[in-house]
Amino acid sequence: MRKLALILFLFTAVFISSAGETNYVCVVCGKGPLSGRIWISKWGAVCDDCYKLENHCSLCGLPIRDGDGSVKTGDGRFICKFDQPNAVLDVAGAREVFTDTRRELVGMFGRSFALNFPDVTVNLFDVDYWSELGRSDGLHKFGFASTRRTPKGDCTHEVVLLSGRLRNEIAATAAHEYTHLWINENRLAGHVIDSDTIEAICELSTYKLMESRSQPEQPILDNPYTHGEIKKLVALEKENGIGYVLNWVKNGTAATLGTQASALAAPVRTPVIAFTNVPPPLPETLKLSGLLLDGQSRHAIINGVSFATGDVKNVSLRSRPVRIRCREISRAGVVLEVENQPGQLTLKISEEKFVP
Ligand SMILES: [Zn+2]
Ligand SMILES: [Zn+2]
Repeated sequence: MRKLALILFLFTAVFISSAGETNYVCVVCGKGPLSGRIWISKWGAVCDDCYKLENHCSLCGLPIRDGDGSVKTGDGRFICKFDQPNAVLDVAGAREVFTDTRRELVGMFGRSFALNFPDVTVNLFDVDYWSELGRSDGLHKFGFASTRRTPKGDCTHEVVLLSGRLRNEIAATAAHEYTHLWINENRLAGHVIDSDTIEAICELSTYKLMESRSQPEQPILDNPYTHGEIKKLVALEKENGIGYVLNWVKNGTAATLGTQASALAAPVRTPVIAFTNVPPPLPETLKLSGLLLDGQSRHAIINGVSFATGDVKNVSLRSRPVRIRCREISRAGVVLEVENQPGQLTLKISEEKFVP
């Protein structure tokens, strides 16, 4: 089980203002050349009318306009025309990603990481499906793996993946779920493994896959849902190799990796299918992602929260919410006061600062 929050509004735009015409064209509606308020997204300029649109791409946050080439998933998520070519929207695409991921992992970890019962049914579902299964805590599950043993001892495997995500994100989840299947097949009957350790071993596969694809691995390490076990495992793997970890799953007796003594402690009961929540790592820092300067009207977007001069609002950081007063907004950035912190904090555009 791999679970993260679906963040719907990732759109961070930098506002620029121009008195005359520019050579910018809006990537959403095609209007241009633009003048006045212009927003710069990762895909290019967005006009002020499009910036105010209600619907956004569920992957990048770009505003969505009717007939702009975007698509809509069955459960109502929009995917912009730029993300659409890399998004997995049908089961054939999901199976392809799963097969590629599995091949890559076996290539990296060796033949012993192949499944003895190689048939895996891969399906793709939307958010509604997950919501029915899970808790209504605003989190969506990204994947799910299960193995059933027939009375003869054969295994039948199934993996379910969430639709409408980027190929690389689906691959990260596929690596995790494939590892669940492999553990289900390979751990000794009666070997009780701590559920954080199981999830961490599955995340280790994701980590190794992202590393070999030169994709950022840091979010995997920062994700708190294995309660830090992933960091221990990455270190253990660096020192002893993946074979050590896989061999432990097959032959170990302890509940956690690396400490045989913990086998003597009360074992943690682990269901065959581990359900684990993966809350998104909240930012640890304050970031100024957007500025709107239009005559007397000035707004700053800090960690997705819009501030006018004088506003006092809460911003959620990883460890805690912080209460912030916005003292000053200018082209150079913002001046803030953080509750219970002495002095003032200045942020320039795209700059991040840690709050002690
Ligand atoms: Zn537009
Ligand atoms: Zn998008």
